[in-house]
Amino acid sequence: MRTLSKSKLLAFRQCPKRLWLEVHCPEARDDSAATTASFAIGHQVGDIARRLYDPEQRGVLIDPQHEGFDAAFARTQASLLSPQPIFEASFRAAGALALTDVMLPSPPNEARTWRMIEVKSSTAVKDYHRDDIAVQAFVARAAGLALSSIALAHIDSSWVYPGDDNYAGLLREHDLTAEAFARGDEVRHWIAAAQQIVAQPCTPTQHTGQHCGQPYACGFFKHCCSTETQAAQSIQWLPGRWRKSLHEHVAAHDLIELRDAPDALLNETQQRVKSVTLSGIPYFDQAATAQALSAYKLPAYFMDFETIQFAVPIWPGTRPYQQIPFQFSVQRLARTGTLEQRAFLDLSGDDPSFAFAESLLAACGQRGAIFVYNAGFETSRIRELAQRFPALAPALLALNERVVDLWPIARQHYYHPRQQGSWSIKSLLPAICPDLSYGDLSGVQDGGMAMDAFLEALAPLTSAARQRELKEQLLAYCALDTYAMVRLWQVFSGSSWRL
Ligand code: SF4
Repeated sequence: MRTLSKSKLLAFRQCPKRLWLEVHCPEARDDSAATTASFAIGHQVGDIARRLYDPEQRGVLIDPQHEGFDAAFARTQASLLSPQPIFEASFRAAGALALTDVMLPSPPNEARTWRMIEVKSSTAVKDYHRDDIAVQAFVARAAGLALSSIALAHIDSSWVYPGDDNYAGLLREHDLTAEAFARGDEVRHWIAAAQQIVAQPCTPTQHTGQHCGQPYACGFFKHCCSTETQAAQSIQWLPGRWRKSLHEHVAAHDLIELRDAPDALLNETQQRVKSVTLSGIPYFDQAATAQALSAYKLPAYFMDFETIQFAVPIWPGTRPYQQIPFQFSVQRLARTGTLEQRAFLDLSGDDPSFAFAESLLAACGQRGAIFVYNAGFETSRIRELAQRFPALAPALLALNERVVDLWPIARQHYYHPRQQGSWSIKSLLPAICPDLSYGDLSGVQDGGMAMDAFLEALAPLTSAARQRELKEQLLAYCALDTYAMVRLWQVFSGSSWRL
């Protein structure tokens, strides 16, 4: 019988095929950049947790990857004999193994027991965390640990970093002892079922579906897709929230083609996506888009932000995972049809927020509509800036009063077969303005790449030449986002100006 790690058991909980592939075909795994980034965040939060739970630095850190598992198990048992914090304590029992983030001893005047804390970089307790905790508790107790309690510590997204490397308050604990201890039989059953899957000579049958991204993005997705028949026009292009009856119908009949989606189970937008896709004829109610925009006279502004977020804040006054704007592009379209761009980008490494807010106010003038695409994002950032900088609040909040969202206009009145169920500006642009393409940009081509470029530019080892290159890429990308909006406005409003 193999010893299955906690991560293998959680992979089994997501999808038995995933477990089998992880054991027998690990080379087929191809984790996304987002998954790799989430591992890095997990390590960063783990490092902070060690400082918070062991301020005197008396603890023992076990490192099974470097010292080997047998040595790690032995050093864990030896460390349990003395009352200091233990990090990455390693246990093996009942066909499974578990590495624990934090273990704290009971007070000196009590019989020796241990309190276990699992540290997560999420901002709430998720259901799969509860499975995780149940496995940890089961394996540690089966290995003979006197476990008094087990808790999950996650990031408190309402906490504000005071600065000076002081992260007290970053983590919030939830005690899950009773629940974890009550699930021992369940965990034993998972281990037995997972062992059976691993012992199978062939890959279990399992089609890809929504479970492939829940609760984790599965690294075998490309591999699994490569072995399945792909839809010519995917039923997954149906946008928005699906009715329960649609979900059930698709699952029950194993549907992959959009043409097979029953009209009776689709809402109006989904029916439009289906009919436009099948007919190949775009839908555009130009009279309606022109009517929707007719109230807004020139001059008008077109605005877009790029943001960065840190699980562990680096700038005082900011919260974990707060979206902090570091760049904007604003295009001003004058009554004469002249287009003028203003841009802001701060790569100094200091908190860009105040300078961003001041520059934005200067770029947007006093009056005129400010067009954005998906207004919730920009208006939320402006509100947050207003909260942080009360002196600028009236002027910032006045910007939000002028914001007009192009996204709902596009969603209601325009759909092209090339959009494949998406109304993101990047999906719309090739249909509406085939002469413009994000693919022609060098380097940064989407918001995720903009974040990566920003972080690379701030890294101490990045050369001045590379920083200049990244700066140019970021400026070009954000400028295209706003220019795309101008062209969208032009098509929707029926303007004949050459822009
Ligand atoms: S991609 Fe989906 S079906 Fe394939 S192993 Fe992963 S979760 Fe299972």
